[in-house]
Amino acid sequence: MNEPIQPVHMPPLPLTGGCQCGQIRYQISAAPMLYYLCHCTECQRQTASAFGESLRCESETVSITGDLATISWSAASGTKRHGDYCPSCGVRILHRSDARPGNVNVKAGTLDDASWLKPAGHSWTRSKRSFVAIPADDLAYAEGPPDGFTAITARWKAMLEAGRKSPSET
Ligand SMILES: [Zn+2]
Ligand SMILES: [Zn+2]
Repeated sequence: MNEPIQPVHMPPLPLTGGCQCGQIRYQISAAPMLYYLCHCTECQRQTASAFGESLRCESETVSITGDLATISWSAASGTKRHGDYCPSCGVRILHRSDARPGNVNVKAGTLDDASWLKPAGHSWTRSKRSFVAIPADDLAYAEGPPDGFTAITARWKAMLEAGRKSPSET
């Protein structure tokens, strides 16, 4: 298999972002671990959109300014999940799972500049919207990745590496 690796040109660190009203701001001080799209019905409902965008980071690399509010729920798997949002404008900033205590998923639509992002993979394509076209060589899984994101993480790393080696076209 010779899957082409899409280069990702990450802007200089820190990455910055925040909520719609400006009460919550954040900085990410190290390269995120992975970026993927989830097409599950829970993400569709939570985002009120077609899919969820997850930019997984080591918790200690994300610093937040402002006080987040939190809601918690149990996923279908039984795992407890938490969503941190701006209490003033309601925008979801982070998702956390008790299964991954050292990580947070930044909701990537809140980045000040998200133009550089390309997903390393797709989960739950079984319920993806019919108009979302996934390139043939993207990593895509009908449900959750059976390898626990190992392949998506490796691909994201290779995409970042390719971006460092090649100049940005933009
Ligand atoms: Zn806000
Ligand atoms: Zn999902």
